[in-house]
Amino acid sequence: MTFTLPPEAVHWRDKARDFVDRELKPYEVEAEMNDGRIPEAARKAHEKACIAMGVTVMDVPKERGGLALPILTQTAIVEQFGRVTNALGWCYGEAQGWMFEAFNEDQIARIVMPVTRGEIHLCYAITEENAGSDPGNIATTARRQGDTYTITGEKWHVTSHNLASHMVVQAKLADGPHAGEHCLFVCPADAKGVTIARSPAYAHNYNHHHPILRFDDVAVPARDRIGAEGDGMGFTHSWFRRERLLIAARCCGAMARLIEDATDFAKNRIVSGSAIADHQMIQAMLADSVLDLHAARLLTYEAAAAHDRGENLKSLHARCSIAKLFASEAAFRVADRAVQIFGGRGYMRENVAERFLREVRVDRIWEGTSEIQRLIIARSLIKRGLEGTIGPN
Ligand SMILES: Cc1cc2nc3c(=O)[nH]c(=O)nc-3n(C[C@H](O)[C@H](O)[C@H](O)COP(=O)(O)OP(=O)(O)OC[C@H]3O[C@@H](n4cnc5c(N)ncnc54)[C@H](O)[C@@H]3O)c2cc1C
Repeated sequence: MTFTLPPEAVHWRDKARDFVDRELKPYEVEAEMNDGRIPEAARKAHEKACIAMGVTVMDVPKERGGLALPILTQTAIVEQFGRVTNALGWCYGEAQGWMFEAFNEDQIARIVMPVTRGEIHLCYAITEENAGSDPGNIATTARRQGDTYTITGEKWHVTSHNLASHMVVQAKLADGPHAGEHCLFVCPADAKGVTIARSPAYAHNYNHHHPILRFDDVAVPARDRIGAEGDGMGFTHSWFRRERLLIAARCCGAMARLIEDATDFAKNRIVSGSAIADHQMIQAMLADSVLDLHAARLLTYEAAAAHDRGENLKSLHARCSIAKLFASEAAFRVADRAVQIFGGRGYMRENVAERFLREVRVDRIWEGTSEIQRLIIARSLIKRGLEGTIGPN
């Protein structure tokens, strides 16, 4: 099977590639050596350029002033951002399609659209110490008293909380007709009662921290509940589909970068009088990496195109899992081979392969671990059969 991107997707891909190569890549080593930080003026310029380019509204409906780009085009764009460290690639916030179904008009005006202008930065507080792969088991509660909910609990790994103005929080309703069901809320990142219990260091060096947050009787007005009581889990499913697809896309970008850089190095590195690219053991590592990228890209583009064709939602869910599972595992294999090809240089923090080896590892964990993706795929197969899982042949 071959897959040709339509001209519009090629145009956007090239535009994103140019921005990433010209504006982001030059800061990679500086970011790596400074815990992900670059000069504030440069960070702001990157965000501004992304807003001007339109990537913050690529998933926003046209009637809201967005671009509503096909998912395949969005995937091709995000793939290019995957060519650099997330410390730089995460330089913009975007309003996602599901938000326009979940948030009401008032919230779209106050929260969602300002995200596209860089005025509001969101983070997501779902995971807990005892609820990760099984978000249904969260213990954080929301208790309603009149027009206010009181949120109590603890959230883990809240990515970008240090840079966020607002957070989306998932809690279980403590009482009322929907007691025990889930609900999403949006509240200021520094709302009264929110404290940082701890901000641990992680394997990557991003200026996006992932703290553990305590919520002690945090008051959230009912107008900041997202959707109806009990809607929480439904919304998280639709953002999981998008996030998994885009993780797969970023992994494809990382693989392409690694293969290109490792190939260049192998052609120019002379050992015992010949280029290491002439050795078949090196060629095998490069060939296996091309295979991994090509397969991951086909799976990712095809799952994205299936969204644009409006295929069955349940099948799309499984196909996003297939793309994320394969691409994230493939990216780690490719990064590991690239380190080997670079030899000692591949173990230096200034080297792209060393950085990606640490960075892509988490793609097998967040937004559902590889094991959870396998369960989703297997359950889909058992319930809906092969065609219902990977689509008609
Ligand atoms: C850097 C980073 C950033 C993150 N950012 C955010 C964020 O912004 N917001 C947020 O809410 N969360 C975030 N997370 C949390 C992330 O989504 C969870 O870590 C992930 O879903 C896995 O949950 P867990 O860590 O609790 O692992 P666990 O659920 O405890 O799983 C541990 C192991 O058991 C396996 N396992 C679990 N259940 C099964 C099963 N049924 N069958 C087989 N194996 C199983 C898992 O695959 C894994 O290997 C982040 C995590 C990291 C590391």
